[in-house]
Amino acid sequence: MKRVYNFSAGPSVLPEWVLQKAAEEMLDYQGSGQSVMEMSHRSKVYEGIIQGCEALLRKTMNIPDNYKVLFLQGGASSQFAMIPLNLMNGTGKADFVLTGQWAKKAYSEAKKYGECRVIASSEDKVYTYIPKLDPASFTKDADYFHICLNNTIYGTVYHELPQTGNVPLIADLSSCILSEPIDVSKFGMVYAGAQKNMGPAGLTVAIIREDLIGHAREITPTMFDYKTHVDNDSMYNTPPTYAIYICGLVLEWLNDVVGGLDKMAQRNRAKAAMLYEFLDQSKLFRGTVVKEDRSIMNIPFVTGDEEMDKKFVKAAEAAGFVNLKGHRTVGGMRASIYNAMPIQGIQDLVDFMGKFEKENA
Ligand SMILES: *Cc1c(COP(=O)(O)O)cnc(C)c1O
Repeated sequence: MKRVYNFSAGPSVLPEWVLQKAAEEMLDYQGSGQSVMEMSHRSKVYEGIIQGCEALLRKTMNIPDNYKVLFLQGGASSQFAMIPLNLMNGTGKADFVLTGQWAKKAYSEAKKYGECRVIASSEDKVYTYIPKLDPASFTKDADYFHICLNNTIYGTVYHELPQTGNVPLIADLSSCILSEPIDVSKFGMVYAGAQKNMGPAGLTVAIIREDLIGHAREITPTMFDYKTHVDNDSMYNTPPTYAIYICGLVLEWLNDVVGGLDKMAQRNRAKAAMLYEFLDQSKLFRGTVVKEDRSIMNIPFVTGDEEMDKKFVKAAEAAGFVNLKGHRTVGGMRASIYNAMPIQGIQDLVDFMGKFEKENA
């Protein structure tokens, strides 16, 4: 069996430990005589899986007791509508910072429901930086303030959160959740599609402060009301049972094999540093993001010559480094180096890039 190094932005690489454990348990989950895939979500044994997953997520992220954890479907993209339907219910105003396509989509969707303001945007430079924010410009009576913390496509991340005062800060964490510790209490809500750093596609995790729940607009579809899912422990309807099980295994791996979120963060920083250091000294490749806003999860880079980029992506794929092609709006390459990408994968990639550079000097 030969496994590639998969740099896909999502769905993305999973820890081999998790895949192996899932394979071992595929036909008979812990003596139940069935696969998790076949189980009733109302069974005792499944209850253990979903509750175990929530408990581990709470412990790993240090989620305060006054926050609910919801296991939803519909992707982060559904949250772009669910958030305004549930939270844009006071003045009907909300603030947005446009740092990429996902941030922009969240804004465009919310605009259908209320008065949305763009506080700042980095679109002028293809989202290669995080705009400086002046709290004086924020809407004082907004129902919420939305950011995308790590910008998957462009490779930027906030190193400092906007100071929104009493206005709940809401963040899309799809591509950085579980990559390093965050202080959940600084946010009204955070959410993430699972397929980048938590598990397979099909699961969306939302973590919401209790006081923000239960105020959905009357027209809100039952399935789009956070309260529906809170009242039913994410079991109003059939949850994405298998994806939740895998997410639980990913959390087990993060805690028991990696050693917790601090260790995970150290490892992620070391991985990113290795690639950035290479890019910064390379004469062929260069990173596209301003240094101070660089992400440790998604690293876009270019040669400056489209033909050379293509040649590199092709050669890399042949050598077992797959999904390095950049997003169509940025071009070039992007290495998504989520939690499950081993350090060796980055070491080997950097060696390969160095070799490619020499051969193409
Ligand atoms: C991938 C991604 C999304 C979209 O997620 P879906 O689950 O496909 O809807 C949204 N936001 C960010 C930051 C992402 O990386």
